[in-house]
Amino acid sequence: MTAADNGDGAETLARRARLLAPTYRLFYRQPLQIVRADGVWMYDQHGRAYLDAYNNVPVVGHCHAYVVDALTRQARTLNTHTRYLAEEPLQLAEELLATMPEEIGRLIFTCTGSEANDLAVRVCKAVTGGTGFIVTDFAYHGVTDVLAGMSPEDGGPLGPGVYTVPGPRSREDRAAFAERVRECLGRMQADGVRLAALLVDTIFASDGVFAEPRGFLADAVRHVRAAGGLFIADEVQPGFGRLGDAMWGFQRHGVTPDLVTMGKPMGNGHPVAAVAARASVFEQFAKHRHYFNTYGGNSVSCAAALAVLQVIRNENLIDNARRTGEYLQRGLRALAERHRAIREVRGAGLFLGVELGANDQSGLSGSAETARVVNAMRDRAVLVGSTGRNGDVLKIRSPLTFQPQHADLLLEALDRSLQTVA
Ligand code: PMP
Repeated sequence: MTAADNGDGAETLARRARLLAPTYRLFYRQPLQIVRADGVWMYDQHGRAYLDAYNNVPVVGHCHAYVVDALTRQARTLNTHTRYLAEEPLQLAEELLATMPEEIGRLIFTCTGSEANDLAVRVCKAVTGGTGFIVTDFAYHGVTDVLAGMSPEDGGPLGPGVYTVPGPRSREDRAAFAERVRECLGRMQADGVRLAALLVDTIFASDGVFAEPRGFLADAVRHVRAAGGLFIADEVQPGFGRLGDAMWGFQRHGVTPDLVTMGKPMGNGHPVAAVAARASVFEQFAKHRHYFNTYGGNSVSCAAALAVLQVIRNENLIDNARRTGEYLQRGLRALAERHRAIREVRGAGLFLGVELGANDQSGLSGSAETARVVNAMRDRAVLVGSTGRNGDVLKIRSPLTFQPQHADLLLEALDRSLQTVA
């Protein structure tokens, strides 16, 4: 809020329209002006507290003191890049690789999830000699030109050599997704396109949040490997314990990727990201290319990421994601008994999707209904989002410090919002 703003944010909105490109989008019919945050709470300019059930980046809670202390201490001591010998990137690589299957043995630091995916794509092209990629048909993987062509959610054209498969669906058997990948491999072969990799978000967030049945991804990866391709697990959204059973989403599926990309929660809000891969994959890439990223692996980012890992361990946040996530899922299923608008509750840990369907009384489409519910919840000071090909899935993805009492607040707000919208 500026001095000229009368408090409703109208002046800030006008300045934003004057200064920033129209590519930006705000959340909510009545946009929020947030001035500070703490744990699972965000506060507007009037001091009103909003329960954050949406933001996955502050994975250990907004402005966590341990992370803030670690990065300020490091900023006071040294902040430099990876062309000098230093302890911070090595310790971070050691700790991250220790959370992965043994075969994943090397790591490259970047600053954003997009840079990580972009690098993973380059590596797969160099290592396989192929140019063909398979993604799901409502995927999002990042902002670079190459990734925009692999992100159908963006609505732009697919890049050359990019093929899509329909994302997973709930209630289908374990073999169904793999079968669609196998068919896609046949199409690529018929077109004379050489396969480089399958790239998927292991919780299929933009496709609508699909965690079940466990293992369906492993079957798809078997087909990809038989066709000479690699598997990139995009862990930018599901990673860092969010799914409640392990550190990484691919672990739910019992599959070891060739490359793993991570970002968003890694620095709890500080930009830090990485690609981890089988040692042989990076060895082959390094024969042809060097890679230096000025800020990737800088001392301060590494200190922030090390502190995040420490807090996840100290506060048992993976376990908390599982327990609180199960509690919340039970509550959502109980709501589904009473609200016909809820079609399905799905997800894992603290990454949940609630699919809403056309409600007979309201006559609204699923996406219009979902938008109304998201806004009604915002008015009740609970922040959630929406996702999915039809925009009809409520996306619940809170910091991992979420507790049952927070889940109760969310459930009550959702109950009332569904009543209002109906
Ligand atoms: N992959 C996935 C699955 C994502 O959700 C995102 C960001 N929304 C990215 C990659 C890109 O990450 P970043 O915005 O940090 O570049």
